[in-house]
Amino acid sequence: MSSLPHPPLRPAPPAASHGWYWMLPRVAVVLFLLAITALIGWLHEQDREDQRQAMISDVLWMEQDLRFHLDRNAELMAQLGRERLERQLDAYAFELRARNLIANGHGLVAVEPQDSSVVDDPDLAGPARLASQLGRPVYLPPHLIGGDVHFDVLVPLGSDEGWVRGRYAISQMLAQSIPWWFAERYKLDVIDNVETVLASKSKVDARQDELSYALSFDPPGHGLRLRVTAYHTETRLLPALLVATIVCLAMAMLWSMWALRRHLARRLEAEQALRAEHAFRSAMENSLVIGLRARDLEGRITHVNTAFCRMVGWSERELMAMRPPMPYWAPEQAEEIRALHDEILQGGALSHEAIELKFVRRNGERFDVLITEAPLVDADGRHVGWMSSVQDITERKQAEELYRQQQEKMAFTGRLITMGEMASTLAHELNQPLSAISSYSTACLNMLEHGQADAGELREPLARMNAQARRAGTIIRRVHEFVRRSEPKRLPCSLNHVVEEAVGLIEADARKRDIRISTSLAGQLPDVRADRVMMEQVLLNLIRNGMDAMADVDAGRRRLLIQTSADGSGVQVAVRDHGRGIAPDLGDKLFAPFFTTKPDGMGMGLNICRSIVELHHGRLWYENADGGGTVFIMKLPIDA
Ligand code: ADP
Repeated sequence: MSSLPHPPLRPAPPAASHGWYWMLPRVAVVLFLLAITALIGWLHEQDREDQRQAMISDVLWMEQDLRFHLDRNAELMAQLGRERLERQLDAYAFELRARNLIANGHGLVAVEPQDSSVVDDPDLAGPARLASQLGRPVYLPPHLIGGDVHFDVLVPLGSDEGWVRGRYAISQMLAQSIPWWFAERYKLDVIDNVETVLASKSKVDARQDELSYALSFDPPGHGLRLRVTAYHTETRLLPALLVATIVCLAMAMLWSMWALRRHLARRLEAEQALRAEHAFRSAMENSLVIGLRARDLEGRITHVNTAFCRMVGWSERELMAMRPPMPYWAPEQAEEIRALHDEILQGGALSHEAIELKFVRRNGERFDVLITEAPLVDADGRHVGWMSSVQDITERKQAEELYRQQQEKMAFTGRLITMGEMASTLAHELNQPLSAISSYSTACLNMLEHGQADAGELREPLARMNAQARRAGTIIRRVHEFVRRSEPKRLPCSLNHVVEEAVGLIEADARKRDIRISTSLAGQLPDVRADRVMMEQVLLNLIRNGMDAMADVDAGRRRLLIQTSADGSGVQVAVRDHGRGIAPDLGDKLFAPFFTTKPDGMGMGLNICRSIVELHHGRLWYENADGGGTVFIMKLPIDA
């Protein structure tokens, strides 16, 4: 298919015009993403909460452990103190036992007995009394010794009987009491109430956003707190896998939706382009003045354009699937069209060859159409039917008819002019037989009056009279036939006969001008299909032109030869004169209307002759004859 230029195609309008259902997938995707994010967030929070709970229980355990060690140390110190008080231990033994206690004491760095003089120490008096009153150890505020934070404990041995004073180094306590697995997971700090770190289990800092928990470190109290920060949150495999799977699936879903959307957009674009192309082609087809009709292999109409519907007067809906005989076939041609139709369907179609037919409109009006049939081949190269272009040629036919009538009128006028010019000669020609008849009849009458006439004597003048009357009749018939106005009838006719008739008409004129007309007629000349009178008119014109051309030449040269001959391509008549010839610069001007070199000429003769010959699908031309003069040749195709 040839590509025709057509207007640029516009892109598809935005999806908004497709309605709310186009928004639904987007909203669903956004909601889905929100739900997935919320789920992942919730799972993450849940995980952190679990880890936080685990951390809290670890911290509580650790705090319990520390408290246990502090309480146990206090008990051991009380026992040691009491034994010293009851004199079971001397100073050396106490020292040994105290060292032993310090060695396993979970941060304990010093143990020493305190007697009642302690109440004189302003720093220790209060706590010592409090411990005695409560009957349990009292811890003193932390203080710095040599860069390390320490705190003391006063363990009462009875009411104001004595005390044992223990000292803990917090960093040592942490180093000795915290198990390795705890230190691996968490950073442990001992902080005061203004968040100053007094001691740490590890020097490695934890990240800020990691889990952290603080609880008061009591005992020893005094605002001390234990702060635990997880080094890293543990990622559990199953939930992580689950989340990863959900994220992957969500991504895959988003990708497939995006791909689907892109595919849809492309399809929509292609559809739009196709629609625009279709609309453009339909518009082109509908603006055609030529009717288009498609038929399937069984002759059913499968498509018609607007021009065809306008031509025949049936709507597209009515014409669709119509089968022959079609209502627009002219009844008088129905059989012929049917045969043609069947021939086309059988594949013997005269494809690309135009056929002229008569169609009838729905209102009964007849019109001429020119139909060109061609096989309809689909995109796969299959022959699926027939495509016809139907052209209304009524106007052309009418114009042709008008032209033909004008030509005919012109030819008729031409004949009248010729006759006008020949009138005096013909009158003279007719006068001869008429005066002969008159003389013969006078002689016969005289013979009858004088009683001399017998049948034998009368026979001869009467026979001559008859011959002269026949001659006059022939002349009149020829003139009558020549000028008679009738429809051109193209019938098989012999050009030899036409030549004889024409010569019969003009020979009187030729005689008058001292011109000798001779003929050389071919025997067995094939007939041509022509209007005899028109052919005679052509010949008469050529003969008269030849005679005019010889007006100035010597009487001895005034010879005109008419020759007929035939070859494979047609029959021809040549009219050869011995006149002055035709100047080479005149060329085809001779055949133009109103071209003449004669003072009284009209210049229409050759123009009419050429029109007549061409009407008969023949050719008229001239050549310079050997030995001077011109030969005009008319060639007509043989009547098939
Ligand atoms: P008309 O005879 O009225 O002039 P035609 O159309 O018959 O018109 O001829 C046109 C011109 O062609 C003539 O005037 C003449 O000059 C030239 N012509 C025609 N036939 C011959 C011929 N046989 N020999 C020379 N000239 C010719």
